[in-house]
Amino acid sequence: MKKNIEEQSGNRFRGKSSSRREFINNSMGGMALIGAAANLGKSEEKNSPEKTKAGKLKVIVAGGHPGDPEYGCGGTISRLTDLGHEVVLLYLNRGEGGIQGASASEAARTRTAEALQACQILKARAIFATQIDGQSVVDATHSGEFLRIFESEKPDVIITQWPIDNHPDHRAIASLVYEAWHAMIKSGKNRPDLFYYEVSNGEDTLMFTPDCYVDISHKDEIKHKACFAHASQAPEKFYSLQDQVAMFRGIESGYKKAEAYVRHIWSGPFPV
Ligand SMILES: [Zn+2]
Repeated sequence: MKKNIEEQSGNRFRGKSSSRREFINNSMGGMALIGAAANLGKSEEKNSPEKTKAGKLKVIVAGGHPGDPEYGCGGTISRLTDLGHEVVLLYLNRGEGGIQGASASEAARTRTAEALQACQILKARAIFATQIDGQSVVDATHSGEFLRIFESEKPDVIITQWPIDNHPDHRAIASLVYEAWHAMIKSGKNRPDLFYYEVSNGEDTLMFTPDCYVDISHKDEIKHKACFAHASQAPEKFYSLQDQVAMFRGIESGYKKAEAYVRHIWSGPFPV
């Protein structure tokens, strides 16, 4: 099975970590190589010389609530930060509606602290957009907030939630990110690669067919710790569900456990 998948994907999304350029040179061909090389050139133009020299990437992982990036991508985030890449977790809100019996401000305080702890565990940085949990607004003003964040952060890669999802905040983050990302592409100022992740499949994410897999077999402990930092959010239930997803993605990809992504067609290979 492993061999088949590598053959099907041209090994583009597998294997040991290497610089983005090495990865592209070693493993891509034909039209895919042309597309990725064009993308890479554009990415390098907007990077600072220091950043380009060091070969380090900035990756933003966006989530509809504190906890979504950690559950969907915690192992990947840890692998990226191990390699010295900078990872920012961009939360749509502070989880104001997520604790039964608590006021919005109490819940936000608790969940902000949980998110900061999770980020510390994963060696990532947190940014909170200004929306309210359960009351997401998708319009030009709010996608403008995301555009300003992206223009200021200048990410090389953005990973966001898959848009077909039962939770409106998850659908909202997917739309807001896409709108801001697309505006950046159109402006020609920045051209980050875009990927989608899955979370709480069946309950939240639906109809997700990944084309990138990241081996997280050795990241169990740290992912567990980052997810359980969200102690107010029933981590026993949700970690166990997400762990089943990781095992299934592992079966698909030939790893013990994996996190899986959908690559936007205008993007290069997954960065790890
Ligand atoms: Zn969520």
